[in-house]
Amino acid sequence: MKIRFLGAAGDVTGSAYHVMTDKASILVDCGFFQGRKEESEKNRRKSQIEGGILDGVVLTHGHLDHIGRLPLLTKYGYKGPIYATKPTLELATMVLKDSLGLQKQDLKRQNQKRARQKLPPLEPLFEETDVRKLGPLVSPVKYKQRFQVAPGIEARLVDAGHVIGSSSVELTVSENGDRKVIVFSGDLGPRGAPLLNDPEPFQKADVVIMESTYGDRNHRSLHETAVEGRKIIAQAIRDKAKVLVPVFAIGRTQLLLYLLAGAFKRKTLPQIPIYIDSPMAIEATNIYRRNNELFDAEALDMVGSGELKRQLVGVRACAKPGESRALNSVKGPCLIMAGSGMCTGGRIMHHLRHNLPIAETAVLIVGFQSHGTLGRKLVDGAKEITMFGEKVPVRASVHTMGGFSAHADQSNLLDWFSVVAPSKPRTIITHGEDRARDTFSKLIGARFGLKTEQPQLGDVIEI
Ligand SMILES: [Zn+2]
Repeated sequence: MKIRFLGAAGDVTGSAYHVMTDKASILVDCGFFQGRKEESEKNRRKSQIEGGILDGVVLTHGHLDHIGRLPLLTKYGYKGPIYATKPTLELATMVLKDSLGLQKQDLKRQNQKRARQKLPPLEPLFEETDVRKLGPLVSPVKYKQRFQVAPGIEARLVDAGHVIGSSSVELTVSENGDRKVIVFSGDLGPRGAPLLNDPEPFQKADVVIMESTYGDRNHRSLHETAVEGRKIIAQAIRDKAKVLVPVFAIGRTQLLLYLLAGAFKRKTLPQIPIYIDSPMAIEATNIYRRNNELFDAEALDMVGSGELKRQLVGVRACAKPGESRALNSVKGPCLIMAGSGMCTGGRIMHHLRHNLPIAETAVLIVGFQSHGTLGRKLVDGAKEITMFGEKVPVRASVHTMGGFSAHADQSNLLDWFSVVAPSKPRTIITHGEDRARDTFSKLIGARFGLKTEQPQLGDVIEI
């Protein structure tokens, strides 16, 4: 058996693993490369994933960097099944639709530039029809249900606790009378976080392919972060001010809503109006709601008793642009969650423009902000920013909330691995920048006496 690394090898995007035996060929994840221009160029290397030769696809979860290249499979002839949990398939459908729209805008911009340079236009990576062709191929599976992906390859998914429906994948591969168990961690969630279950570890494996996004550091505690957030919101309520939260649609929005419901229930915060000002966050929240049987025990109680619904009666979904603009004349106190998560566009921009000059406004930064983004400038304490071609003074307070990550930190990753470590698996570290991978690999060596491998993009290993 061979495994080819088609992404997330030396970085954190483009997750895709090609598993090949003498009888079958399958993919685990088929993610999009995101970030700098060189990264997105990698999506165009079509020879790497020829849909026609594949027998099956298994997905760990619905984030773009794990599912974004799926339409390339149908474009190049794939007609086989795509297995994942139901919420993963629902999130993937939503995310692909959004990604297609963004790609169209981006391509238009790039081709205008190329026309000025007298260069031929770029073709779109894939079309709407390629996305539509995925629909009939999806096949939802439940956690812990065993299913055959292809001849000689069985799979089982378990909860990875990262976003709703997220999974680690266990493959049992039979070849020439030999059976091997291969575990793919997928993205692992933090331990002890509210709303979702903790990631489930494995007892035994021959090979573990493991993520290392935060292999070099630990997060601030979620509890401390939540307490700090509550104080900031309480102050904003006293000031009758707006709290602005730039959010990514999947995960953080739903975690914040759940934490707010808990604070309202315990009366540590009075109920205030909450606006979800992002069509995608609204849809993602609906997907969480439709699949709420996967919540953790405490959240299930909140759902079962009707408490969650009662506490969140003040939540308004702003789907239409007009509803978003109308929020400019709404008086505080209120909390507005809007995209994009790094303030690089989207509806959060007009809220910032109107409210950053107001000293009482509080901006809660709940996710990672890359260099060069407006979000990062705010985090770094900019006193004035330029948006829509005009200078906007920053008098609002900006608070970085470090503990709301949807990812396991270093100690969570080690805990998860410690359960499978006694079975002495061959250990392959992926999905991390080199510094995180190196640090984590060394820790695995020191703590469990296991050697690890760190493949590069395109590498093939033989098992
Ligand atoms: Zn993810």
